[in-house]
Amino acid sequence: MNTMMQSANAMNLQRSANTPIVYLDHHATTPVDPRVARVVFDVMTKNFGNAHSVDHLYGQGAARIVESAAGDVAGLLGADQNSVRFTSGATEGIRLAFAIACAANPRLRVAVSRVEHAAVLEPLCALENEGRVVLRWIEVDGAGRVDISDIERVANEGIDFICLMAANNEVGTIYPIQTATAIAAAVGAEILVDATPAVGRVPIEVDNWGIDYLVLSAHKLYGPKGAGALISRYANTPMATEVSGHVGTLNVPAIAGFGEACRIISSEGTADISRERDLRNRLENTLLSLVPDLIINGDRQNRLDNNLHFSAPGAPNDAVLSRLQYLVAISTGAACSSGAQQPSHVLRAMSFPSELEESALRISPGKFNTEKEIDFSANEIAKAIKDVRAAMRTTK
Ligand code: PLP
Repeated sequence: MNTMMQSANAMNLQRSANTPIVYLDHHATTPVDPRVARVVFDVMTKNFGNAHSVDHLYGQGAARIVESAAGDVAGLLGADQNSVRFTSGATEGIRLAFAIACAANPRLRVAVSRVEHAAVLEPLCALENEGRVVLRWIEVDGAGRVDISDIERVANEGIDFICLMAANNEVGTIYPIQTATAIAAAVGAEILVDATPAVGRVPIEVDNWGIDYLVLSAHKLYGPKGAGALISRYANTPMATEVSGHVGTLNVPAIAGFGEACRIISSEGTADISRERDLRNRLENTLLSLVPDLIINGDRQNRLDNNLHFSAPGAPNDAVLSRLQYLVAISTGAACSSGAQQPSHVLRAMSFPSELEESALRISPGKFNTEKEIDFSANEIAKAIKDVRAAMRTTK
């Protein structure tokens, strides 16, 4: 066995013989649907041509695979297939969108919600420091909701661009994208929608709603890591190529898997969402019965069906997580790309008191979870919270 395999196997993901640790962190990433994995494998081993080397049938076959995947991605989101540009993920798509918008306007006035992902906020703040964008903030309330009149107010102050995510990756709150797109159009601005956690879970119609830029990522929708897309009428223009520079060899296997994942959502998505909602509700109800003072965060009336975000006052989240690490995989939702825990900018924007912030946990079930896993997890999570609270009391 080579060293790589040994170290991969060294991470034991079993909680007992043949029983894996329950995975409930689908906002972070999803397992690949086995049907998608089969497509990826076939492309890797049979249709492995370079999509840019179209002098022969291998290359032409690969180019056709990319084209067909673009059709599947576009079909899911009501977009024109020619507006799909494949990227390595949402982060790259967001940076490309900003590069295109900034190339067209050297001092872009951008309205952005405080709860966007770091993939949006980091490049925007860097551009602001360079004097290339001027930022205006869209605030959120205690449930992470934006107020439409606040978007209108900011828009009327004079903006060129709005950034609003379709749903929040921490607390799950869903945003009024169609309305925000109309507000942007009314003031002559463009909009970037980060739809990463929302695709397949909330309705989105790129062309009908007039969305200018939308980004998504395959690994959030049971597809492979390393594929995402920017959907925009500018995405495949010479100007986009100019700002992005040379386009390297496309990751055709991951792109093919991305297309297959979108096709599966188009045919099975409604049933999958309903299953995820049932599992989330089962988990929430059981947890509330076992820990009645749990505080459910976000907008309970308008959140992603696979999101459960709560605070357990008196039980710091890191202590709860460490008790659960060999049983159930859940998260604080606030990790940064270095893997280190950071205070959540989302909960800060929602004006969370420190006790609720420190005890906040995010759970996101997925379509492959079973009711048995949910019941097991609810019991273990409740037990961990009670144990931590008891330990905190004795150390006081
Ligand atoms: N936007 C949101 C809302 C996300 O949740 C994530 C990933 O967690 C990203 C962007 C970045 O996506 P990617 O990993 O494809 O770069």
